[in-house]
Amino acid sequence: MTRLRARWPFLVPAVFFLALAVRAQVPTPQSVLGHTPGDDYYLANYEEEIHYFHVMAEHSDRMKMFTVGKTTEGREIEVAVISSPENLAKLDDYKAIARRLATAQDLDDAQALQLAQSSKVIVHIDGGLHSNEVAGPQHSIMLAYRLLTAQNDPEIDRILNNVILLLWPTLNPDGQDMVVSWYRKNVGTRFEVSPMPWLFQDYVGHDNNRDGYMLNMKESQVVTRTEIDYSPAIFYCQHQTAPFPARIWIPPFSDPISSNISPYVRSWFNVIGTDMAAYLDEHQMPGAISESEFDNWYPGFVDYAGSFRNEISFFTETALYRYATPRFYTVDEFPKNMQDLKALTMYTTPWQGGWWHLKDAVDYMVAGSMSVLDTAARYRETLLYNQYQAARDNIRRYTDAPPYAYVIPSVQADAPEGELLAHIMEENGIAIRESETGFHANERDYPAGSWVILMNQPYSAMAKELFEIQRYPEALFSESNKPVDLPYDVTGWTLPLQMGVRVDAVTDPLTPDQLSHLKEVTTLDAPATQVEGAGGVFIVSHQPNASFRLINDVLASGGSVAFAQDEVKTPEGMERGAIVVSGVSRGAMDDLAKKYAVSVLAAEKAPEHTIAIHKARVGLYRPWDPSIDEGWTRWILEQYGFAPISLYNADMRAGELRDRVDVIVLPDMSSHQMMDGFGPGIVPGEYAGGLGEEGLNSLRDFVRQGGTLVAFNESANSLIPLLSLPVTNVLEGAKPDKFFCSGALLRVELQSTDRPVTYGLPGEPVVMFERGPAFVTQPGFHGAVLARYPNDSNPLESGLLLHPEAIEDKVAALEVPYGEGRIFLYGFKPQWRAQSHGTYKFFFNVLYKYEQPAFAKPPAAPGAEPKGNVVAAE
Ligand SMILES: [Zn+2]
Repeated sequence: MTRLRARWPFLVPAVFFLALAVRAQVPTPQSVLGHTPGDDYYLANYEEEIHYFHVMAEHSDRMKMFTVGKTTEGREIEVAVISSPENLAKLDDYKAIARRLATAQDLDDAQALQLAQSSKVIVHIDGGLHSNEVAGPQHSIMLAYRLLTAQNDPEIDRILNNVILLLWPTLNPDGQDMVVSWYRKNVGTRFEVSPMPWLFQDYVGHDNNRDGYMLNMKESQVVTRTEIDYSPAIFYCQHQTAPFPARIWIPPFSDPISSNISPYVRSWFNVIGTDMAAYLDEHQMPGAISESEFDNWYPGFVDYAGSFRNEISFFTETALYRYATPRFYTVDEFPKNMQDLKALTMYTTPWQGGWWHLKDAVDYMVAGSMSVLDTAARYRETLLYNQYQAARDNIRRYTDAPPYAYVIPSVQADAPEGELLAHIMEENGIAIRESETGFHANERDYPAGSWVILMNQPYSAMAKELFEIQRYPEALFSESNKPVDLPYDVTGWTLPLQMGVRVDAVTDPLTPDQLSHLKEVTTLDAPATQVEGAGGVFIVSHQPNASFRLINDVLASGGSVAFAQDEVKTPEGMERGAIVVSGVSRGAMDDLAKKYAVSVLAAEKAPEHTIAIHKARVGLYRPWDPSIDEGWTRWILEQYGFAPISLYNADMRAGELRDRVDVIVLPDMSSHQMMDGFGPGIVPGEYAGGLGEEGLNSLRDFVRQGGTLVAFNESANSLIPLLSLPVTNVLEGAKPDKFFCSGALLRVELQSTDRPVTYGLPGEPVVMFERGPAFVTQPGFHGAVLARYPNDSNPLESGLLLHPEAIEDKVAALEVPYGEGRIFLYGFKPQWRAQSHGTYKFFFNVLYKYEQPAFAKPPAAPGAEPKGNVVAAE
């Protein structure tokens, strides 16, 4: 002992400094950020996080940083790539191999196996995209620090040698900064855990994870483009909505699951989940639960969509109290059936309650990520080979069986939407071909310029998933014909139906002759359009959505627009409601036709009966209890040049709304959200409350004085009692055993085709019904029914609808006169997640000022007592 002690003074410093020299290469988070992520009451914002990532990259040969795009607010989106220095030196080679395997490009099984053996597996992990789920980005910092600083750690060495980690600090940088700045403002005050009174993505908030195939938002585009570029075998996203009292939800998922994704992907979800459960147990982290709540049905999740590109794309949900504030839980707060703390097959180690700190959430997330990396390192070769097999099998599947291809004809009622759909598929990694003259399939000649998706390509499962009709699996119905598990999100989304685009499946194998009429395209061109004919008046079809961009440009430039009331000839054929433009030069019209891919017919004079259209000032109600539907609506209105004005509670309560706007849009929200908003004490005073009586009164005055009020879905239902409208909702309070439709595509029959609101719509539009109302009119109703569910057939086109008889012959949309103004009630979402393009016109048509034609006299309802001239009982 004495001798040893005598030697320590010499030995200890040497060893100590040696260790320090290695460790000091990467500064601790504490030394750079002033805190360790996970500390109570502390959250790093995006700039701080990225700064620290750069500091780490400067001090480590295990990490490189890349900029992959820009956010909605213009921030640079940065990602880190972490692996051994040897792997990083060959990153481009490994990416190329991953791409070859993921697409089964020019490979036979033996070659693929050889590549799988010799390459590295790419894994995507991110800090989440729901920014109020705050632990995600903090986890990314701690995960990177751990991987960069470990020395002689066999687990991490194995990971670094076998895995190339693509680590996103977050998928939503804008939101991270918003939430952190909101929390910093409130921490230590009575509003420390207040919800943020705006969306954490400028337009879509929490729906930033519902944009996985439509790719409307910049962030979704960047993540998808990057994902296709790197071809990760695994895509893992961090969330924080664990079903209480579980501490983390992990796969396996609940049913249903899509049959279009590869069986390899489906079974790897389960392997990764059970590996993770074991990993958490090994590290004494109780409370992991599986197979409850979250299913694999809706493909719109950004963190699931990659599964249709043969990636194992999934998420976990760690427990969250609020922000970085800790909370103590006792067992008597648990749901009654969980208080016995008994283990379950899919809840192996019940959590016993106690403190839950941000650090706990960060640790669970890091453990989840480490488990995935460990699994990837151990099964590198199998994962890579399975990824190849998934692509190979998908190609074979559609070489041998239908659909062999899908055709998007270039001639459509709304041709620019056809091109847009082809573009969306291209962004999803699908190769598109274009038909040349003479392409014949399905016993018809397709016009040149039609787009063709050959299904024998690696990612075509996405095309099938988006194009086909969804039928909820029969196996999931109980004997009483009710689904055993109610779906987590919507059940039907068929894009051609939603977008109003004709798409044909090719059910016979394509012959060499047919294939010879298809050419590969690298950039999609919109159908060529021009102004035809002579004269200073221009006729445009009302059917393309793009016509509204054209109208808004014409009105902004001082030109005149009118809608023709009789059927007249347009470039798309005879139609009612044709758009008549005058006061614009032919050259300007030529430019607009090209810009929006809309055909134009010139004429010497305008049709006889027209309604002059004027630009309206469009107000959009924006509650402080934020509405995702408001954000989507605002985005669509901006895209189409309607320049909406946000109306907050103060604006609504201040009155004199008629002086400010011509149209007010109420996005889908509950009556409580609209009228009451956040209760007092929940948020700082300026954000508390909703419209209230005052706001409702000024809304009422606004319509009485000639304003137009537009309400979607639940808001439409709320207005009935609030404004005493002569309408009732037949689905009020209906339980799933009487009616259930959580999001499906339903067919409606267009009525009142003389009303301008219906112009441009097909006779039987397909609408997105999402827990909405269905109406019947009451005595005293003197308006117009705009759309009705059929009275002799099931309206279901795609998805799940239980008890269709409940809405048989019921009203889907109506126009209610009210004082000098009018109210448009839609029992569906004509602008759902900026996907249901086919019903935008229900909405766009009412966003102008124009003289409304008188209502047709309604047939006297038997036994009904009309209330004189009162247009609406108030
Ligand atoms: Zn989430």
